[in-house]
Amino acid sequence: MKQVAVLGATGSIGASALDVIARHPQRFAVCALSAHRDVDALVALCARHRPALAVIADPVLESTFKSKLAAAGLSTRTACGENGLREAAAGDADIVVAAIVGAAGLDSTLAAARAGKRLLLANKEAVVMAGPLLLQALREGGGELVPIDSEHNAIFQCLPHRPGAADVGNSRGRTSNLERAGVRRIVLTASGGPFRGHTRAQLATVTPDQACAHPNWVMGRKISVDSATLMNKGLEVIEAHWLFGARHDQIDVVVHPQSIVHSLVEYADGSTLAQLGNPDMRTALAHALGFPERIGSGVAGLDFTRLGALQFEAPDRATFACLDLAYRALAAGGTAPAILNAANEVAVAAFLAGTLPFLAIADIVAATLDAMPAEPVDSLEGLIYADLTARQHAQRIMRRAYCC
Ligand code: NAD
Ligand code: MG
Repeated sequence: MKQVAVLGATGSIGASALDVIARHPQRFAVCALSAHRDVDALVALCARHRPALAVIADPVLESTFKSKLAAAGLSTRTACGENGLREAAAGDADIVVAAIVGAAGLDSTLAAARAGKRLLLANKEAVVMAGPLLLQALREGGGELVPIDSEHNAIFQCLPHRPGAADVGNSRGRTSNLERAGVRRIVLTASGGPFRGHTRAQLATVTPDQACAHPNWVMGRKISVDSATLMNKGLEVIEAHWLFGARHDQIDVVVHPQSIVHSLVEYADGSTLAQLGNPDMRTALAHALGFPERIGSGVAGLDFTRLGALQFEAPDRATFACLDLAYRALAAGGTAPAILNAANEVAVAAFLAGTLPFLAIADIVAATLDAMPAEPVDSLEGLIYADLTARQHAQRIMRRAYCC
């Protein structure tokens, strides 16, 4: 029986992970769950999955959480804050699902890697911010990483595997290994989001609810906005660089509006391998939970007679400037990806709060990258400092230009 900790359990990925886990009661048990502030949802998940430990990230809410658990007749042990998340990540779990959104997930993701867990990484912002430190933590901890982001999970499935090796960041996946495996390039697919084909003039007035109405995937609001700006694909380019050791000129992006082909790997002989499936994150989660075995996910197979045409087109890089900003940050290296990520988190939060126009998200990120030269990444403290400074810069630029 494998013990699983689900961090970010009340979110979209958390719900999909718990759905797959509940389909396999002989194989998996939930040992820890976490949420940010949604006490009632976390109590309901504790009643359903009976973890030994539940973590409410906001410490102010721990006493309310304790009393609601007691009122529900549950004896779940509680913890709170970063220490609590670290305990859930590094404690009894064999498998940790890292599904917290944003930089807030970095500490617990690193803790799981250091503790040698199988890390199911959905929290892409952690690897964007701290790729080299995460790889080092995986090496030192002796754990293994299986990507959950559907594109990276697809690439993982299309790369050759040595028997027993799920370790993206450890011994497989650095550039020389990619070349040794005969890989020419990685192609990430992008749905294009809800605003595919829109002009800048049309984008000027779009609302948060329009940005979050993704045509194919049901996701949290932050990643939904990232999908609409194409920053999500930019973050994924950086993620692919670290997870697979691909140089930026070995990673391409193609828009595929149906979200059936989840990504592709092109080999030196001209072969291209792809992973296909319905757009449902339970497939990637079941793959990563069971790897190297294949287990049920609840997702139906494809009906090719009903699929119709699959389209592919180039992304509109001029209108959706965030994609190239991410390539720029990757090329600059060092702290630049962390700066990009921090500025984007600040700008997306302001857009979701209704105080920043959609098109300004890319402007804020570009201005923050301009204001902060990339520094080498030599410690976690240095990265956290870059993240905080970038947030302050982004806030200042926003206040000046948009009074928010
Ligand atoms: P979500 O907003 O639905 O859920 C986020 C979870 O994180 C919630 O449980 C929330 O309580 C928790 N959380 C938020 N802020 C926190 C904080 N400050 N401290 C501790 N916990 C906090 O998001 P999601 O769509 O499930 O995405 C989660 C991660 O997975 C993101 O990094 C996203 O980019 C990635 N991802 C999501 C999808 C998807 O289909 N939803 C696909 C690929 C990758
Ligand atoms: Mg993705």
